[in-house]
Amino acid sequence: MPDSRLGSRPRAHPSALAVAAIAAATAAGGPAAQVPPLDLLLRGARIVDGTGSPWYRGDVGIRGDTIARVAPSIDAPAARTIDVAGAVVAPGFIDIHTHAARGIFQIPTADNYVRQGVTTLIEGPDGSSPVPLAPFLAKLEALGTSVNVGTFVGQGTIRSRVIGEGSRAATPDELQKMRALVEEGMRDGAFGLSTGLFYVPGTFTPTDEVVELAKAAGRLGGIHISHMRDETSRVLDSVHETIAIGERGGLPTQVTHHKIIGRPNWGKSVDTLQAVDAARARGVDVTIDAYPYTASSTGIQGALFPAWAQEGGRKQVLARLSEPSTRAKIKADVVQVIMNARGGGDPKNIVVASCDWDASLAGRNLSAITLGRGLQPSVEDAAETALWIVQSGGCQGIFHAIGEEDLERILRHPATMIGSDGEVPTFGRASPHPRSYGTFARVLGVYARDRRTLTLEDAVRKMSAFPAGRLGLADRGLVRPGMKADLVVFDPARVRDLATFEQPHQYAEGISHVLTNGQIVFESGAMTAARPGRVLRGPGRVLRGSP
Ligand SMILES: [Zn+2]
Repeated sequence: MPDSRLGSRPRAHPSALAVAAIAAATAAGGPAAQVPPLDLLLRGARIVDGTGSPWYRGDVGIRGDTIARVAPSIDAPAARTIDVAGAVVAPGFIDIHTHAARGIFQIPTADNYVRQGVTTLIEGPDGSSPVPLAPFLAKLEALGTSVNVGTFVGQGTIRSRVIGEGSRAATPDELQKMRALVEEGMRDGAFGLSTGLFYVPGTFTPTDEVVELAKAAGRLGGIHISHMRDETSRVLDSVHETIAIGERGGLPTQVTHHKIIGRPNWGKSVDTLQAVDAARARGVDVTIDAYPYTASSTGIQGALFPAWAQEGGRKQVLARLSEPSTRAKIKADVVQVIMNARGGGDPKNIVVASCDWDASLAGRNLSAITLGRGLQPSVEDAAETALWIVQSGGCQGIFHAIGEEDLERILRHPATMIGSDGEVPTFGRASPHPRSYGTFARVLGVYARDRRTLTLEDAVRKMSAFPAGRLGLADRGLVRPGMKADLVVFDPARVRDLATFEQPHQYAEGISHVLTNGQIVFESGAMTAARPGRVLRGPGRVLRGSP
C-alpha cells in the first residue's frame, strides 16, 4: 500500500510513534534496543483464536501489519496500548460470499461490514464476476479499501460471453474458450470457480460442462462454490450435483448460502446434510456456507420466473410477456413458485428491496403492491403484479420462505462456515436484506450467546480460520504470531445485530475495535481514515513482472 496512506488519521499514526519509541530505546541502550517496540498492544483480552479452542486470557502485540506476539502478559514497549479489559479479541471475519462490488466503489470503507468485524470480503459468487478479473482487481487496489477483497471467477459470466443466454450445449470450440477464460481468471488471482446454476445462463449448463471448467480451476489450486440449481423441492439432487462437481472435477466444492426454500420442503436439510456427511466420509472435500436469516434476497424475475421464460435475455422475456398464451403459462408457473417455493405460500412473504424505476416500492410486499394497483390480494393477481414488475424493469426482492429449524441445523453442522451474501448498501437507501449489516453480529449474539446453537469459539471459527483455510489464506484467520493483524475486539455480552427487515439500515453493536493489516479501521464507534485493505489473490496467480 502506498505510504501516503500512513498518517492519514487525524492523530499521529502508531508507526510514527513507533519510530520515536525506537529512537528513545536505542538512546537508552537497554535490551529494548535489540527488539523493535510494538506498534500496538491489546492488553487483557479473552483471545478466541479462530481454531475453535476455548478462549484464553492474554495480550496481543502488533508490529506493522503482523501479529508479533501473543502471550499471557506482554511487558514490552508499545507505541500505543489499548486495555481491552476482558473483551474478546478474535481474527477479523472473512466473508466467503459477498456481492461487495455493489457498493464498494461508492463506499470503500464498507462500514456495514467493518462494524460487524469483517475484514475480508470475497466477491464473484453465484457464477457472476467481472471477466476479465485483472482490471477489476487493479481498480480495487487503486481505490484503497478498509477491508481486504478477493474474488472468484464466475461460470455464468463466462458462458454468457462465449455462448450467450441461450439454452444449448457448448460446442468443443466454445468449451475450449470457456476453459481458457477460467484459467485466465485463476491466473489473475481468483480463488476458484463460482457457479450459479439456478440463474440464467448457469441453469442451461449441463453438469458435464461445469465439471470440465471445474477441472481447469482445480488444476490451478482453486475451489468450486455453487449457488445450486435448486434450493426447493429438488434441493437434495442439487447437493448431489455440487458434490459430483467436486468429486469428478478433482477440487474442493462448496454449497453456498445453503438453505431450504418453501414450506413443503422444510426439513430436507436432514437429507442434504447427510449427503454432505456421506460424501465427506468417502473422501470428497465438500463444505457449506450459510447466513443466519429465514429470508433470501435476489431479483424478482430470477426468483419467480421459470428458466425457460428467461432464456435469451430481456428482449425475449418481454416478447414472451406480450404474447397472451405464453404470458398465461409464465403466470401459472409464478403462482406455483409463490405457493410452494420462494413465495413462502403468501404474496405477503415477498417484499421489494429496491427498484431502480420506482423507489417508492422498496419495503412494500407483493400483496400490498397488488392492492395498490387496484387488483385483488389473491395469488393470481399477485403473480400478475410480479409480471408487471418484470416488464417495468425488475426489482430486487426479499423472500420469507426458510424455516428456522433448517437454518439452525445447517448453521450447527461442523462443515458449515458463515457467509453473508450481502453487499455494501448506501446507508438509508432502499430496503435491503439486513444480512448486509447484521450477519456476523447475529451469529455471535443470537446463535452463539442467546440460543446457544453454537459455542462462541465455534462461531468465531466458522467466520475466520475455517473460511481462511478454505480459501488457502495461510496468513489470516488466526490470532497467532506471524499472521496478518486482521482483528476484531467485541464484548461477548453486548454484541448483537440491530438491522431488521423493517429497518435494515442499522449497524451492529458491541464491537469496539476492528483492525485490518495492523491498522485500526474502526474505533470508538466511528470509522477511522485508514484504508489498509489489500486485494487478495488466489493460488493460481501469475506474477506479471510488477513487484
Ligand atoms: Zn446466490
